[in-house]
Amino acid sequence: MGTMKLCIKKILQKNNIAYLKFIDKKNSSVAEKFKNIPCQERAVLLPHCMRNSKQCKALDEGTFYSCAKCGCCKIAQIQKLAEELGYRKVYIMKGGKAIHNILVEQKIKAVVAVACHFEGVQGIKMTDSLKVIAQFIPLLKDGCYNTDVDVNDVEKIMNII
Ligand code: SF4
Ligand code: SF4
Repeated sequence: MGTMKLCIKKILQKNNIAYLKFIDKKNSSVAEKFKNIPCQERAVLLPHCMRNSKQCKALDEGTFYSCAKCGCCKIAQIQKLAEELGYRKVYIMKGGKAIHNILVEQKIKAVVAVACHFEGVQGIKMTDSLKVIAQFIPLLKDGCYNTDVDVNDVEKIMNII
């Protein structure tokens, strides 16, 4: 059984590395276009699993939450930077399905999006089909609950102006 577990782990690692490489290449290929889109036409898309679900004071807006900057998770930092730079909005998405309508209705031209492997693959397909310029940052830890991301990576990308 031990060997079996190891094998699965190896496969997962292999997939993650391939995914990370793919994301990196994808981000670089449109980085210049991203830079030319003003922050007012950009949105930040974060998954709800990044919130501190026990302490979170975010406003429930139906398909997404708006961060109240309570400081109990890393989203407060991202929200602050988005406000400083003049990003249109930070959407803390409850699920991926509502993203399509938001991007179309709000005429968003570029997104900084944090996602796990699974949501990232769906997100890439969607942004490609809508011709929305996307910069993806993978979650460091997924699992749909109190997940984690490298905020420096998010901030570095948001700061491409
Ligand atoms: S910082 Fe924002 S998203 Fe994070 S727990 Fe507080 S209100 Fe919720
Ligand atoms: S880990 Fe992935 S699938 Fe789970 S809630 Fe977070 S973004 Fe969604």
